[in-house]
Amino acid sequence: MLGTGRLLTLSKQVCSLPTASFHEHRVLGFLREHAARLGLPAAQDRWGNLHVRYRHRRRGPAWVLIAHADHPGFVITHVAGQRCRARWFGRVAPAYFRGGRVRVHPVGARSVGGRITRIRQSGTTARVETLWIDAAGALAPGDLGTWDLPAFRRVGNAIITRAADDLIGCALLAATLESLVRAEASAAVTVVYTRAEEAGLLGATALARAAIIPGDHPILSIETSRELPCARRGAGPVVRLGDKIAACDPGIQQLILAAAAELSARHPGFRVQRCLMDGGTCEASSFAAFGYRTAGLAIPLANYHNMGPRGVAAERIDLRDLRAALALLFALATRRRRPGEGERACDPARLVAALARAEAQLRASVSAAPVPWDEAR
Ligand SMILES: [Zn+2]
Repeated sequence: MLGTGRLLTLSKQVCSLPTASFHEHRVLGFLREHAARLGLPAAQDRWGNLHVRYRHRRRGPAWVLIAHADHPGFVITHVAGQRCRARWFGRVAPAYFRGGRVRVHPVGARSVGGRITRIRQSGTTARVETLWIDAAGALAPGDLGTWDLPAFRRVGNAIITRAADDLIGCALLAATLESLVRAEASAAVTVVYTRAEEAGLLGATALARAAIIPGDHPILSIETSRELPCARRGAGPVVRLGDKIAACDPGIQQLILAAAAELSARHPGFRVQRCLMDGGTCEASSFAAFGYRTAGLAIPLANYHNMGPRGVAAERIDLRDLRAALALLFALATRRRRPGEGERACDPARLVAALARAEAQLRASVSAAPVPWDEAR
């Protein structure tokens, strides 16, 4: 498995790339090249989601690991001198935009700072849609913009980045693929880097509806997700019990927890958390809606969508959670046991043993039931 140094390098490379919904090209370009360097087949589907396949000495269903390549941001649409108009994508509360400092990233040129002078919200959703920016340099329509925040810094165990959601997820999946290749591990894994999640799970929904991925492949969504009392930074990756829409598949959860238990037996510091993260949706819900078996793994995040307690702020995750998530994904992918191979959320043998001890009593007491149901009453 990759060491911490390499994991950090990959994370820094991915998190430093500007991105927004419908404008994930630089992130996907990097990840496509990364797959090519590993010698793995990669292709984009009709909606631009990038699929990378690893299969070595394994038949049958593959684990499908998904992460999205966008993050709230904007694209310049009109330029008049140093006054620009831009289209904003992603859910960020309007109060954060007032006088906000932004940075625009023209391809092949130095980034340009700017300040938001005005915003316009959608009439129906009240979400911010349009920005007016005073820029400190020349820009062109199509240039991508982000908040003016450090792209990536590490301070002790803290990773502080402009866009952990979900570029850290993408980096984690790239690191998983690289770990499998280096170890020549027996595994079947398909990674999908999806598009336009922040615009409403669009890439994932298109892919799920198209049924391109065989229905017996288990889907695992990899996200960074807002901290909750049951999902604390530094306490390990979170095995999601579900999100706002859908519950996770108990059989897949069981396999993840079994892999986690094996890891913590070997590495006493290894921890995972379990949490129903019902504050939002994740891409697993798109697949669940179309009948796939899904589960989710999340890395707890502070300053969700750059909304800090005192204004715009870099997102923060804990390096230990990221490392543990990589170990867990690698362990899960290389385990012999795969979904559909006899795993059960709860062992029926234990339940039946309890029933066997008292079944006679249960049956003998039927006629003594105090209030018989009377349909005529
Ligand atoms: Zn998000």
